[in-house]
Amino acid sequence: MGLIRLIIIAALIYLAWRVIKRLLAQARPTDSGNPQIMVKCAQCGVHVPTPEAFSHNGLHFCTQEHQRQYLEHHDR
Ligand SMILES: [Zn+2]
Repeated sequence: MGLIRLIIIAALIYLAWRVIKRLLAQARPTDSGNPQIMVKCAQCGVHVPTPEAFSHNGLHFCTQEHQRQYLEHHDR
């Protein structure tokens, strides 16, 4: 009787530990390894996160429209 209860408690602790470990593993990258790098739009000066920016020849733009406008004015 007592042994079965002990095994069930041990199994629950083991399962809880696995869940906690998984949660910690998921939380860690967002805590430290996710620096949001901001770049400045060469056309309007707005700062946008790199994944959302449009890049061209080392320049960054907040929208494809601004990239087009900038190149129209500076390419010639
Ligand atoms: Zn812009």
